[in-house]
Amino acid sequence: MLTITLHLLLGLATAFLVGTLVEYIVHRLMHARIFLYKIHAQHHQANQGQGWLMEFKDYFLPSLPVLLIGAALFWLLLSVAAGIGFALGCLFYAAAAAYAHQVQHENPDLCFWMPQPVHHLHHHGKMWHHNFGILVDWWDRVFGTYKKVEWERPERKQPLSSYFKIKWF
Ligand SMILES: [Zn+2]
Ligand SMILES: [Zn+2]
Repeated sequence: MLTITLHLLLGLATAFLVGTLVEYIVHRLMHARIFLYKIHAQHHQANQGQGWLMEFKDYFLPSLPVLLIGAALFWLLLSVAAGIGFALGCLFYAAAAAYAHQVQHENPDLCFWMPQPVHHLHHHGKMWHHNFGILVDWWDRVFGTYKKVEWERPERKQPLSSYFKIKWF
């Protein structure tokens, strides 16, 4: 049972790590004008999320090949549990990234899991070379693109219900 749980967690964690790394690379390539530059420039102009569901679709559909290949590899090399863990990790990543993107466009103060809401600041500061992370800021720190900005977290905590008050559809 312990092995199954460990394999499941290993698959989950790997998928999460891969998802956040791909997110960083793709966003950086957009700014290098290599990939989907026009669409991304439009997004910067509009400065809005599309709603959680549409965001989820945009994160999840392109990651389907990664999900299938990764899950198959984990299944073959380790176990069924590891394969399932990887697939679940991809799903969890896409759902969380969609939420992180939407919330940082609507109410960045809710972004409690990072010292500063990097994606909000990326837009707000019209950054073209910094803060490419959306769900996490790890990869910006690893690759030297993290930019600390003067940003105050509001003193008063927002009620739990505000975490649900985003555009979902
Ligand atoms: Zn951008
Ligand atoms: Zn954005």
